[in-house]
Amino acid sequence: EKETSAHYTTSIDVKKLVRPLAKFSHKGTFGHAVVAGGRYGSIGATVLAGRAAMKSGCGLVTCYVPQCGYQIIQSTVPEALAKTDPNERSISTFTKEALQGESLSVGMGMGTAEESRKALFQLLKDLEKLADPPKLLLDADALNILSSQQDWLHMLPPFSILTPHPKELERLIGKWQHDFDKLQKALEWTATYQQILIVKGANTVIIFPDGQLHFNSTGNPGMATGGAGDVLSGIIGSLLAQRYAPHDAAILGVYLHGLAADCAAKAVHQKSMTATDIIDHLSAAWFYLL
Ligand code: AMP
Ligand code: MG
Repeated sequence: EKETSAHYTTSIDVKKLVRPLAKFSHKGTFGHAVVAGGRYGSIGATVLAGRAAMKSGCGLVTCYVPQCGYQIIQSTVPEALAKTDPNERSISTFTKEALQGESLSVGMGMGTAEESRKALFQLLKDLEKLADPPKLLLDADALNILSSQQDWLHMLPPFSILTPHPKELERLIGKWQHDFDKLQKALEWTATYQQILIVKGANTVIIFPDGQLHFNSTGNPGMATGGAGDVLSGIIGSLLAQRYAPHDAAILGVYLHGLAADCAAKAVHQKSMTATDIIDHLSAAWFYLL
């Protein structure tokens, strides 16, 4: 039996994790993050994740989208490479171009169409075959697909990061009675599957398979706005690409996301805050940390 331990992430903890930029760094030093998802009508989720990844320090970002997303990515995230699925409106496969980064964040705005479900299954099989697979983050519809295909959960590479909001969490681990029961169930789930769960909400908590619980201390209700979660996926994907260990990428990413929103709240009212405002204040958040 592993012991549960509770932690509260402060700026002191996070400053210890952050690595300074070495003078002779080049793009390769900072790694390549791939964000994959989007479908006709929600390509914006990958735009937000791609921009957030870019602002979080990785060297290169690829947005992997269905064909209808090509021009959108090229014109809204010009710093990123746009790679397309052979399918027009939704993801139908993950080609090797989706696997070429140090990290792969998947599911934002992806939808749960049959071809996308097959694509996710194929991805999990392909990752098993790779000697040095990209670090995986699963969000949104990737989680919804897994929730309805629970027999696929054992295929997840260990220490992948899953970022459910409350509804996605409920689909994944089942209904809970109260907050304590929720944590108990989530702890059991992470231990069973050896995955990292980021339970998003007003008090985001990160749950590790060894029983560690890390409560975040940044963020504000202005973040309860469409796309905020996509920004988090981009941030953590970027940190994984920079070779932060999944444990550290989860803690630092959640903190940075909330800190950027707290910085944004000084410039725009929480009522007016958008996901883009959070991205636009990632730089201010980094100034606090480094
Ligand atoms: P999603 O629902 O996937 O867009 O994710 C929403 C993001 O905003 C998550 O990172 C949440 O932790 C954050 N968030 C939502 N509501 C609040 C709140 N009331 N206070 C702080 N953070 C929040
Ligand atoms: Mg979301």
